[in-house]
Amino acid sequence: MPDLPCPIDPDGLRPSTLAVRGGQRRSAYQETSEPLYLTQGFVYDTAAEAAAAFAEEIDRYTYSRYANPTVTTFEERLALLDGAEEGLATATGMAAVFTAVASLVRSGSRIVAARELFGSTVTVFDEILAGWGVRTDYVVGTDVEQWAAALATPADVVFLESPSNPMQDVLDVREIARLGHEAGAVVILDNVFATPVLQRPLELGVDLVVYSATKHIDGQGRCMGGAILGSRELLGGRIRTMYRMTGPNLSPFNAWVLTKGLETLPLRVRAMSASALELAGWLEAQPGVASVRYPFLPSHPQHALARAQMSGGGSVVTVTLEGGGGAGSGVEPAFAFLDALRLIDLSSNLGDAKTLATHPATTTHCRVPPDARRGMGISEATVRLSVGLEDIEDLREDLARGLAALRA
Ligand SMILES: *Cc1c(COP(=O)(O)O)cnc(C)c1O
Repeated sequence: MPDLPCPIDPDGLRPSTLAVRGGQRRSAYQETSEPLYLTQGFVYDTAAEAAAAFAEEIDRYTYSRYANPTVTTFEERLALLDGAEEGLATATGMAAVFTAVASLVRSGSRIVAARELFGSTVTVFDEILAGWGVRTDYVVGTDVEQWAAALATPADVVFLESPSNPMQDVLDVREIARLGHEAGAVVILDNVFATPVLQRPLELGVDLVVYSATKHIDGQGRCMGGAILGSRELLGGRIRTMYRMTGPNLSPFNAWVLTKGLETLPLRVRAMSASALELAGWLEAQPGVASVRYPFLPSHPQHALARAQMSGGGSVVTVTLEGGGGAGSGVEPAFAFLDALRLIDLSSNLGDAKTLATHPATTTHCRVPPDARRGMGISEATVRLSVGLEDIEDLREDLARGLAALRA
């Protein structure tokens, strides 16, 4: 598609350089920053040129629902960070999940998925796709035997998150991808928690990576977005038709914001990840805390696997407070903790420069039936912290304030 030269050859350049320069194509004005092509359509010199463009005989932009140069820059930059041949940018993370999966299934298809999934993804599988005759079989994501048993029968799609939201289960991606391929499935991984900075799932054998760019890629609370990344062959088939015809595309304005977000993504994610690791270790030793889930803590059940698959533990720390088991529902300690925070905001987003705290059971995962929610390990006393870029001592003081409220 691109008809302008790229000022750099990305071959051999490292991720932090690609995050700043990948996919840039300067216009005739030779601007420093990436241009924003806020346009719906494109014009033609002749009627024959328009006909040739729509017949796809010539490679050029025709209509921004199909492709737009600012969106292409974002897609190319993110694809370079993931080591993908191509990317398709979507309006939200859920548009990426839905476009990818719905393109690959039809009535009678079978999805095998980890049961530890983002709440809206579960709803798409169980309420929307189920109604279209697509069956989803869930397995415990960390149990490779369950994957092997489920994938002894042919499947069309395998879908997983690693680390999962919010309990941070770390799945054996290489082995699950191998089993998925043996079953004939396209293997899709939602890489929101790790980002391309900390984990490159295509190198672990998956076929497609999906993102909510709303999270770390924007990382500054401004706009929604998403992306599907993978091979030219996979993205050029049914996924491309679905994308072009049903219109889940990202707006050029948001693509521009997200492109600028990518420039600082490696810096932000590494800084957040360092603070998260430190706070996770500190929280684990505090009274009132029943358990902490963080992939790079030795207490994490898949700690060694996390260290092998990821280059950092990520920005999210999942804390389960005491008082969650037995007779108490656990909502009381969680709400007391959350309501006592003064710096950290209560919000359902994650990956933001601002540290955010969420109560998954009553927000992000409230539509997941209680039994399924408990199966994922989410208790009413579980709080998800998305660690941002503030001074770590200010965060520690605020968390201490929250924990003090448990003893009040
Ligand atoms: C937020 C999120 C999504 C959905 O992204 P939106 O941009 O909100 O549509 C999907 N998967 C995971 C793991 C997420 O955290």
